[in-house]
Amino acid sequence: MNTTQEFKLSGIAIPRDAVQMLSEICEHFVEHADVRRTQNGALLTSKLGSADIRIDDQRLSIELTCPSQQALQMSRTSIAEHLFYFAGDDALELSWSQSAALAQLPNIHEATVVSAENVTPHMRRVKFSCADVRPFIGGEMHVRLLVPPRGRRPVWPGLREDGRVAWPEGEDALLVRVYTIRAVDIERGELWIDFLQHSSAGVETPGADFARDALPGDRVALLGPGGGALPEAGNLLLAGDESALPAIARIVAEVPAGTRIRAIIEVADKSEEQPLPSGAALDVRWLHRRSYGAGEGNTLREEVETAIGSMTDDTFVWAACEKEDIRSIKARLKAIKHDRKRMYVAWYWEKKQRPA
Ligand SMILES: Cc1cc2nc3c(=O)[nH]c(=O)nc-3n(C[C@H](O)[C@H](O)[C@H](O)COP(=O)(O)OP(=O)(O)OC[C@H]3O[C@@H](n4cnc5c(N)ncnc54)[C@H](O)[C@@H]3O)c2cc1C
Repeated sequence: MNTTQEFKLSGIAIPRDAVQMLSEICEHFVEHADVRRTQNGALLTSKLGSADIRIDDQRLSIELTCPSQQALQMSRTSIAEHLFYFAGDDALELSWSQSAALAQLPNIHEATVVSAENVTPHMRRVKFSCADVRPFIGGEMHVRLLVPPRGRRPVWPGLREDGRVAWPEGEDALLVRVYTIRAVDIERGELWIDFLQHSSAGVETPGADFARDALPGDRVALLGPGGGALPEAGNLLLAGDESALPAIARIVAEVPAGTRIRAIIEVADKSEEQPLPSGAALDVRWLHRRSYGAGEGNTLREEVETAIGSMTDDTFVWAACEKEDIRSIKARLKAIKHDRKRMYVAWYWEKKQRPA
C-alpha cells in the first residue's frame, strides 16, 4: 500500500506577459529542478515536490504537490518570490487557494554566537549553537543569515498573504546576507560559517563586520538551508575565490571517497590557503591574486575556462565567484553545450562602484 502523503495547493498569477514569465521561470529553475516544458506550460520537479504551471488565458495557473506541509510552504514562497522578481516593476497579481499568511517562517532557525576566531588573516569563523542542526546535515549548503539591530529584541520574518516573505521594517529591519554552512558539529549542536573579511575603502561591509564584531551570546537567525546542494558526481571541477572557499572545503570534505576532484581556488596570497581534508582524489591549484601582474586580473576565469576545455562530458562543474567571472564561465559552458544538470555556476558577490 502506498502511504506517501501529498500536500497540495493551487495558485493563480496574472503577470503582464504570461508566456514571457513562464520562460523566465523555466530558464532560472533549470539549474535547481527538473524542468519539462509541456504544450502550454511546464512541470518543475525538485526535492521540495512539483510545480505544474500552465498558461491559461493570459494567466499562470499553478498546482503545487509536495511531500510535507513545510515543503509546500517553501515551494510557494520560492515561486512567489521568483514571480515578483521576474515581474520587476510590472504589476503582478498572485493568489492561492489557501492563505499563506504566517507569523513566522517555517524554515527559520534561531542561533546564538558561541565563538569567533580568524582561521587565516582574512577568514573569520563564527560558530553558532542551534537547537536543531539536523536540517543542515548533507544536502543544501546555503543560508540567509539574519542579524537583528544590536540591542533590540529580534523580530523574525513571517509570510505575506501572497506567499512572499514579510520582512520586518523600520527599527526592526534585519541585516540579510547569504552564506555557506562550512561545517555542522552534530555532537555540540553547532554550525560554522566562515566570513571573508573583505574591505573596500569608503564602502560598508555589514556582513563581514558582523563576523568581525560577533560576541558570544549574540542572537541571529538562519533561513534555509537551500539554494545549492552538495554536487553528486564521480568527476568534479570546483572553482572559486574566498567567498566560495567555505563551500569548496565542505564539498571536498563530504563527497564519497574516491571522487575525482580538480579544484582551482583564488585567494589573496599563500597565507589565505586552507588545508582541505578529503577522501577524494583531490588536485588543487591555488591562485594568488597578489602575485598577478598588470593585465592578469582575469586569471581565475581564464584558468577555469581552460580546465573546462579539457574536462570530460560527465564532469560536474561547480563554480562560484564574482558576477562578471561567472558570466564568462557560464558563456563558455553554454558554448560547449555542457549539460545544465551537470553544473552549479553562481555569482556570490558583485563588484560595486565605490561612491565618488
Ligand atoms: C550562495 C552564497 C553563498 C555564500 N557563501 C559565503 C561564505 O560562506 N563566506 C563568505 O565570506 N561569503 C559568502 N558569500 C558571499 C557573500 O554573501 C557576499 O560577499 C556578501 O556581499 C558579503 O556581504 P557584506 O555585507 O560583507 O558586503 P556587501 O555590503 O554585500 O558589499 C560591500 C562591498 O564589498 C564588496 N564585496 C562583497 N563581497 C565581496 C567579496 N567576497 N570579495 C571582495 N569584495 C566583496 C562589494 O562589491 C561592495 O563594494 C556567499 C554568497 C552566496 C550567494
